[in-house]
Amino acid sequence: MDYGIKIWGGYDFIIEDGKVVINEGNRPAIIDIVKDVREQGFKGPVLFRFPHILKKHVNSLFNKFNKYIKEYEYSGKFSSVFPLKVNQYPNFVKYLMEKTKGKNYGLEAGSKPELIIAMSYVNEKCSIVVNGFKDKEMISLGFISAKMGQNITLTIEGLNELETIVEVAKEMGPPYPNIGLRIKLHSSGIGIWAKSGGINSKFGLTSVELIEALRILKEEGLIDYLTMIHFHIGSQISEISPVKKALREAGNIYAELYKMGAKNLKKIDIGGGLAVEYSQHKTLHSINYTLDEYASDVVFLLKMIANNKGVPEPDIFIEAGRYVAASHAVLVVPVLELFSQEYNEQKLCLKEHNPPLIEELYELYNTINEKNAVEFLHDSLDHMESLLTLFDLGYIDLIDRNNTEVLVHLIIRKSIELLKNKNLSELKDIQNMIQERYLLNFSIFQSLPDYWGLGQQFPVMPLDKLDISPTRSASLWDITCDSDGEIAFDADRPLFLHDVDLKKEDYFLGFFLVGAYQETLGMEHNLFTHPTEFVITFDEEGNYKIDDIIEAQNILDVLDDLDYDVKEIERRLKQNIEDSDLIPDDEKKDVIGNLYLVLSENCYLKTIAGSKN
Ligand code: PLP
Repeated sequence: MDYGIKIWGGYDFIIEDGKVVINEGNRPAIIDIVKDVREQGFKGPVLFRFPHILKKHVNSLFNKFNKYIKEYEYSGKFSSVFPLKVNQYPNFVKYLMEKTKGKNYGLEAGSKPELIIAMSYVNEKCSIVVNGFKDKEMISLGFISAKMGQNITLTIEGLNELETIVEVAKEMGPPYPNIGLRIKLHSSGIGIWAKSGGINSKFGLTSVELIEALRILKEEGLIDYLTMIHFHIGSQISEISPVKKALREAGNIYAELYKMGAKNLKKIDIGGGLAVEYSQHKTLHSINYTLDEYASDVVFLLKMIANNKGVPEPDIFIEAGRYVAASHAVLVVPVLELFSQEYNEQKLCLKEHNPPLIEELYELYNTINEKNAVEFLHDSLDHMESLLTLFDLGYIDLIDRNNTEVLVHLIIRKSIELLKNKNLSELKDIQNMIQERYLLNFSIFQSLPDYWGLGQQFPVMPLDKLDISPTRSASLWDITCDSDGEIAFDADRPLFLHDVDLKKEDYFLGFFLVGAYQETLGMEHNLFTHPTEFVITFDEEGNYKIDDIIEAQNILDVLDDLDYDVKEIERRLKQNIEDSDLIPDDEKKDVIGNLYLVLSENCYLKTIAGSKN
C-alpha cells in the first residue's frame, strides 16, 4: 500500500523502510522530524515547509520552457511571477525569493497588502505584476515602485483604471510603471476553478475596450508603456485543450494590438492554471497533460501565430501558483482516537443469563475462524439489528445493548484480522460497510478549506507502518464541533489505515500538497488557528535542520485578533477566581497559575486520556 505516492508525489516524497521520506539530502523520514519537534514540546498539528521543493518546481518551469524555446528557435524569453494570493505567508515568500535568486522570477499582487509584500521582497530586477481591481491609491503605489527602480507592470482590468493611471501619471510624473492589458477571452477553463475565463468572466477588457484603451494610451502619450497582455482562464486546468484555445485567441490579440501601433508590446502573460495531480488512485487522474506538453504547446502556438502575422515572437510570462507551491507544505496531524477501540473484552458485562441472541454472538466471537469469518460476520450484523430493535421495544436493557456493541465490534475486528491476507472481494465489502472513525487533532476548515468548500481531495497517508498492510477503512474526523469537519470514507477512493493502539504508540497522518491556497483560505472556525509551522532545510552534509518556526497563536492572541480586550478577559477571570467561595483561599494562586498556563497554549488538543497525543 503506497497511497499513490508515485502518482502525486513527483519524487519529492518516497517510501523507504516503511516510512515516508523526503527525497533530499540524507532522505530523512518525516516521522523522525515529527518526533524531533514533539520532543521540543510542540504538540498538535504541525505544518512543514520544504523550500528545496519550491526551488525544484521553479527550476523545472524555467528548464522546460527554455528547452522548447531552444528547440523551436523561439526568439522570445521566458520569465515568471508567483501569484501571492496562493500563499502570502512570510516563511513561504521569503524562502521562495531566496531559492529563486538569479532567475527572472518575481511576484504578482492582487491587493494593496500583497503589493506591499511584493515591493518589499521581490528580488532585484525581477518583475512585479499587479492584477485585480485597483483604486487610485493602489495605482500610486505602483508609481512609487517604479520610482524605486522596480520592474513593475500594472495590468488594467477596466478602462476606469486606465483613466486613473493617466491622472496619476500627470500628478506624479515619470518614471512610470509598465502597463498591461488583461483581455477577456471567449475561451474559458475547465473544472471547479474555471470562472476566471470566458466572456462573462469578472475580469478583463473586451475587444471594444481594448481598442478604446489603445486610443487613450496613444492620445495620452503612454503607448510606449504598454508592454504586456494578460489572460487567466482559471486554476487547476486539468486538460490541455482549453489552454491551447486560449493561447490562439490571446496570441492573435497580441499580434493585432502590435500591428495597431503598440510597438513596445512584447510579452504575453498566460496567467496561472498549471494543474497539480492530487489523485491517490490510478483510475482517478486529475490531469491529462505534462509540464513538457504544456511548455511545448505554449511556445509552439505563440511562434506559429507570431510568424503567421509577421510580428515579433513575444516573451512568455507565466503566473503558475498551485504548481509551484502545492507540494512544498505537508500538514502532519496526530490521530487522537480510534472510536471502535473503546470496544475491548474488558468492556463485556455478560450476565449469568443473557438474551439468546447475545449468547449466540458470544459463541460466534469464540468460534470464528478463517473459513467461517465472512458468514459469522454477516450473522453478527443481523443479530445486532435484531438486538437494537429489541432494545427500542424495551425487551433488553442497557447492559445487553452494551454487550451487543462490544461483541459485534470484536467480531468485526477479528474477522478483518483473519481475512487480511486474503484478497477477498468480501473483505472489501466488509470494509466499505464497517469503517473505523479516526479522530484527528486538526481543523478541516483551517487546514483543508478546499475540501470543505469544494470537495477537493488531498493525498493523505500514515507517515510510517508502510510495510504493514492497513486493515481499517477509514473516516477522518477533525476536532471542530461541526459535522462538516469529516472526510467520510468513499468507496470510489477508499482510504485504509492501521488498527493502532494509541495507548501504546503514536500514529500520525500526513496531508500532502497543501501548500497552495489552503493556508490563505483557511478559516478560524471554532477559533482553531494556523498550526505551528517549521521550515526544514538541508545542510551541506545532507542533514535536515529546522530553519524557522512560527508557533500557532495562543488563546489570548486569538481573542485579541477578534478585538477582545484581552486585559479585561484576564482581569475578569482572575476576579472570578478570587471572588469564588468554592475555591479554598490557599488554592486560588495555583488555580490562577493553571489558567494562565492554558491561556498561553495554542487552541489544539494537547493531553488526551488514553492517548500519547
Ligand atoms: N493569476 C491570476 C490572475 C489568478 O487569478 C490566479 C488564481 O486563480 C493565478 C494566477 C494562479 O493560478 P494557479 O494557482 O492555478 O496557477
